Amino acid sequence: MMTKKIVIDKAHGGKDPGAVGNGLVEKELSVKICDYMYDCLKDNYTGFEVKFTRTTDVFVELSKRAKIANDYDADVFISNHINAGGGTGYESYVYTNASAASKALQNVLNDEALKTAKKYGLGAHGEDRKRGNLAVVRETKMPAILTELCYIDSKDNKLLKNDDFLKDMAYAYARGVAKFLGLKAKTVTAASAKKYHTVVKGDTVSAIAREYDTTIAKIKSLNNLDDKYMIQIGQKLRVK
Ligand SMILES: [Zn+2]
Repeated sequence: MMTKKIVIDKAHGGKDPGAVGNGLVEKELSVKICDYMYDCLKDNYTGFEVKFTRTTDVFVELSKRAKIANDYDADVFISNHINAGGGTGYESYVYTNASAASKALQNVLNDEALKTAKKYGLGAHGEDRKRGNLAVVRETKMPAILTELCYIDSKDNKLLKNDDFLKDMAYAYARGVAKFLGLKAKTVTAASAKKYHTVVKGDTVSAIAREYDTTIAKIKSLNNLDDKYMIQIGQKLRVK
């Protein structure tokens, strides 16, 4: 399978803090969300690589962000922001004349985001699937979306101060992107889950079962032991 390329846009930065309020700074919250997103992708999926538009607290022009994604030949671009101006909720933007692919990305991402937001009593801000003539979604050549999570200057700030919430929402964004790209979920294969124990003097099947948090019946069946649970020193027993 071709490796999918994801550009995650850490909003604002450097001289541009983005929205500020209630002791919170948008550029910092965006970094948290983007890093959590990457953690989720890394831990749960394969077949992708990620590029951030910035990895330090620097100012990057909007057109430069789009250029980074275009030069990288990304399959998805996602920019994560926090809203301001009084209000509440989650919303996202694709370009005014968005491609069908961008709209599809928005649908799947919003499904995940709103499901998660609901757990925290947060809904959509008006029409959650917005269109806008925003530089980063206009100038990027791949499916592109911009999220706006909560309002920094409203009661929403309590959620933004909750790292569990930021993480859950970032994980929702990651699941959305993964679903859109059809990324393969990491699974523990039966082979890699196998575990063995080499029998030493004094071992009993029941002690081994306790040691590996399994049952004597399981060990018996995995190793075709007889009804007396006979084992021998040096024997390689499969325990899981
Ligand atoms: Zn912003």
